[in-house]
Amino acid sequence: MNRTLREAAGDVERRIANACGRSGRRRDEVNVIAVTKYVSLDRTIEAIETGYPNVGENRWQDAKDKWEALQGRQDVVWHFIGHLQTNKVKDVLGRFAYVHSLDRLSLAEELQKKASQLGIVVPCFVQLNVSGEQTKHGLQPEALEPFLSKLSDCDAIDVVGFMTMAPHEEDPERTRPVFRGLRELRDEANAKGAYRKPIPHLSMGMSNDFEIAVEEGATWIRLGSVLVGKS
Ligand SMILES: *Cc1c(COP(=O)(O)O)cnc(C)c1O
Repeated sequence: MNRTLREAAGDVERRIANACGRSGRRRDEVNVIAVTKYVSLDRTIEAIETGYPNVGENRWQDAKDKWEALQGRQDVVWHFIGHLQTNKVKDVLGRFAYVHSLDRLSLAEELQKKASQLGIVVPCFVQLNVSGEQTKHGLQPEALEPFLSKLSDCDAIDVVGFMTMAPHEEDPERTRPVFRGLRELRDEANAKGAYRKPIPHLSMGMSNDFEIAVEEGATWIRLGSVLVGKS
């Protein structure tokens, strides 16, 4: 990566602004998570200081050194975006402000149990497998309503949004049905009152497809390679 982060950010910001313009959205409706799983502590600090205090990691083992080094900084907001094993819940709780990968009942039960022991409430995104790809984690959309009904009784979990990953496509336009599908699932769940309160957020869009996700209503986009680089 020989581009500075500031140059990459300028480019990304212009592309987000254009996608907002095309879809009649305001730039401040879209939050950016700098996904730092591929990069060093120094690069992570550079991202934070370039204006991206929301940092995303998908494994505690990979995040640990960075998390510990930045522990004293009140301005950093950690997002856990990877598949979360039930036995890793204890590592993530209290350290990450958001979990983007709540995709099954056993995980909800463990989060509920451990968060109530700590006396905290954990903001979560329900991860959905909208594309139907076998290799993707995420709850099947058919299982969403009963899942939200169960989550309505988990007082240590606060569902703030839905999350999905689109398949990698050469032509990002082909991801649109997946992102639109996630938005429709959120709107339907809200219309039916499937959860104990309205669910506002959509965590969707990565380096390859974030403009389409913004056009379809993303409120959190998760950017690794296009923003902070790959190493
Ligand atoms: C790695 C990762 C990202 C960022 O990937 P890029 O394609 O580099 O932007 C976003 N979301 C999740 C869940 C990831 O694991």
